[in-house]
Amino acid sequence: MFLPQEIIRKKRNGLVLSTAEIQWFVQGIYDNSVTEGQIGAFAMAIFFKGMSIDERVALTLAMRDSGTVMTWSDLDGPVVDKHSTGGVGDVVSLMLGPMVAACGAFVPMISGRGLGHTGGTLDKFESIPGYDPYPSPELFKKIVKDIGVAIIGQTGNLAPADKRFYGIRDVTATVESIDLITASILSKKLAAGLDALVMDVKVGDGAFMPTYEDSKALAESIVQVANGAGTQTTALLTDMNQVLARSAGNAVEVREAVRYLTGEYRDEALHEVTMALCAEMLCSAKLATDLTDARQQLQTALDSGLALTKFSQMVTALGGPEDFVEKMDTYLPKAPLVIDLPAPASGIISKIHTREIGLAVVQLGGGRSRADQQIDHAVGLDQIVKLGETVTQGSPLLQVHVQSQKQYDEVKARLLEAFEISDSAPTSPTPVYETVR
Ligand code: URA
Repeated sequence: MFLPQEIIRKKRNGLVLSTAEIQWFVQGIYDNSVTEGQIGAFAMAIFFKGMSIDERVALTLAMRDSGTVMTWSDLDGPVVDKHSTGGVGDVVSLMLGPMVAACGAFVPMISGRGLGHTGGTLDKFESIPGYDPYPSPELFKKIVKDIGVAIIGQTGNLAPADKRFYGIRDVTATVESIDLITASILSKKLAAGLDALVMDVKVGDGAFMPTYEDSKALAESIVQVANGAGTQTTALLTDMNQVLARSAGNAVEVREAVRYLTGEYRDEALHEVTMALCAEMLCSAKLATDLTDARQQLQTALDSGLALTKFSQMVTALGGPEDFVEKMDTYLPKAPLVIDLPAPASGIISKIHTREIGLAVVQLGGGRSRADQQIDHAVGLDQIVKLGETVTQGSPLLQVHVQSQKQYDEVKARLLEAFEISDSAPTSPTPVYETVR
């Protein structure tokens, strides 16, 4: 039996907590026997004094074990997943799940809603009429087993300690702690019972972490802690100095994902990040001998149409239309107006304030400014120019999908300020910076 104030004092004084102390405190978080004030103080002590890798592993496992931990013993292949720290136009999960499943892995992906200026996979899927991201645990398991992939939302009993802890961190200025972010992300991911995990840690203006060094430190922390907790994990540091896809929003991104899977249109940077993450997953899952072999398998999955079939089967299994892929334009919600945003000058796109673009989508109603807000799946941005591309005065920087002219007028200035146009090209952006193993 411990006293919460003694555990907080020990961490406040910079000492290392034992696994038993951490487990006891986390138990108190989810059975409500430690108070909100004590949890806030605990988080602040960790924020300032940090945690060793062993402490982070203990915190992650204690939070993971606060709820259901899924098991997949009846599957005849590896169980893998990817998690992104969040970006703008980061539509990767929609293609990655079906592509990796087409290569023989099982992907039980529990995705989240948009956070701040970043979009959420769950919100994107909810653009599809009928798609129910909250199936029963039995149906979820059946879809993963039969099709190989199911992308759903977080159910109430997955790492419930993190739910309370995160809510308190959010209002006590203790979210931005690498130790706490690591345990928070991994407790939820590891509760899905994975054999292997690949992290996509975003870097740059539209990323959650402000500097390259911070993103790298987060990637290293996650890789060390997840491996310490027994799940084979690697991380890729990928670029968020521009919108990853050509679109940002919900229905517009689903449309881009389907066009990617059919082969109708594949943006280069989006393709590179998607292939790199998928290839890493296949190697971690031991389904490929090396990255080259993995890329060949993935290209075959795209070319043969099997990845598209997996996407379509998953959509139908979760309640969406059977012919969604063939007739997506009749199913996806459409904004009444699509207006070109004209470039104010001629030149080369030299800088993109990606975070502002994400915030413009939120302003349009495609994301939330309050947790309980309903979003508008139809609004968003499309055909967004990329770094290094040339524009002439009056040519479109992007298309804005809006409900009204007034809405366009209100978001226009923010969008125009997001693009810098000059005479010289920027150093060409690298989609994937490095891999942390
Ligand atoms: N996302 C999470 O799930 N947890 C954090 O702490 C930060 C981002």
